[in-house]
Amino acid sequence: MRAGYGAVVAGLGGALPRLANASPLASDLLASGASPADAEKSPTAERKAGWAIVGLGKYATQQIIPAFADSKRSKLVALVSGSPDKARALADQNGVDPKNVYSYQNFDAIRDNPAVDIVYIILPNSLHAEYTVRGAKAGKHIISEKPMATSVKDCQTMIDACQAANRKLMIGYRAQYEPFNLKAIEMARGKQLGTLKLITADHGRHLDPGDPADQWRMKKDLAGGGSLMDIGIYNLNAARYLTGEEPIELSAMLHSTPGDPRFREVEENASFTLRFPSGVIANCTSSYSYQDVKRYRVFGTDAWLDLDPATEYYEHRMKIGHKDRQEEIKIKEESQFARQMDHFSECVLDNKPVKTPGEEGLRDVRLMMAIYEAARTGKTVKLS
Ligand code: NAD
Repeated sequence: MRAGYGAVVAGLGGALPRLANASPLASDLLASGASPADAEKSPTAERKAGWAIVGLGKYATQQIIPAFADSKRSKLVALVSGSPDKARALADQNGVDPKNVYSYQNFDAIRDNPAVDIVYIILPNSLHAEYTVRGAKAGKHIISEKPMATSVKDCQTMIDACQAANRKLMIGYRAQYEPFNLKAIEMARGKQLGTLKLITADHGRHLDPGDPADQWRMKKDLAGGGSLMDIGIYNLNAARYLTGEEPIELSAMLHSTPGDPRFREVEENASFTLRFPSGVIANCTSSYSYQDVKRYRVFGTDAWLDLDPATEYYEHRMKIGHKDRQEEIKIKEESQFARQMDHFSECVLDNKPVKTPGEEGLRDVRLMMAIYEAARTGKTVKLS
């Protein structure tokens, strides 16, 4: 076995030592019962950034809110929802002050709430831009779910709004904070597989019109597109983070089953191929018509690396295929959601650069638009 196999990956998104000269956030001290004057004075108080969640749907309630229990630098302090009853019940369950529950209409009043440092937008895709702009104008740092937005223009608007307000912007690319994916990046880029040649990546799920979370996914104005925008983005982001390169050309095909009402507005299946400057080719597929598939395989001249599932919430499995043997790599699972949140809290608390900023989200949206263009025209798209 090679050195480093099986090791627990050091926490990129985990807690880092506090900077000696960093001042505590007012929100943390105020929420802990200190007076505003104490908040100014007390540099030794434990510091956690205060988070507001916008949109209390499936991902927010099933993955993100429970992950605050595993986080070290992040604390849930506010909720924004169109359903007052749901919000009140969740606030009660999670120790959120009922005064810190907002509607979509009065969301802008969050500017007057010093307990909130960070706003996390977990709404349908086309709404990310509006709430990012409103949150930044309210003086809050923003994390938006993937895909960042449904157009390049909206992505740029989000970046500009955060820049103008001098606020940080992050995109929720949780896989880039997840230990198995970090190990895969280390091995792929560190030549532990030899010279990289090819990547295959597939993401599929069954789109269920009976599930409220899937109803907006069938509408182009809210989702922006179909399986590509929703889950094909994981292939695209993985091909980029595994190689550390940006593609120079791509080709693509789409297909939707004729007559299937789920696919009147958005595509069912997408297949696309990326070529990278080093010569690596990535062949990627996404579908809304098979059961859960979330995998990639990286082929190098010495070995292949298989992560299946690769972008699941839990229970990832990594295998390495050498010339004469295969081995499974065991890594300690950690909450990628908590690691992602703690990374952003650290960036805000200690004024550090964001690992997956708005520009990273913009790159993927720009590439997805090029994938749609390649599919529409049947031509390879050259990328600058
Ligand atoms: P969801 O439908 O369960 O949640 C969306 C929430 O937005 C709901 O509470 C809904 O009431 C609210 N909403 C506000 N305005 C709305 C409108 N006009 N139409 C429809 N809903 C509206 O969806 P979800 O699966 O939680 O996805 C939300 C976002 O999170 C999407 O951007 C999705 O891509 C992203 N997501 C990311 C991951 C991940 O692993 N990173 C996983 C799932 C979803």
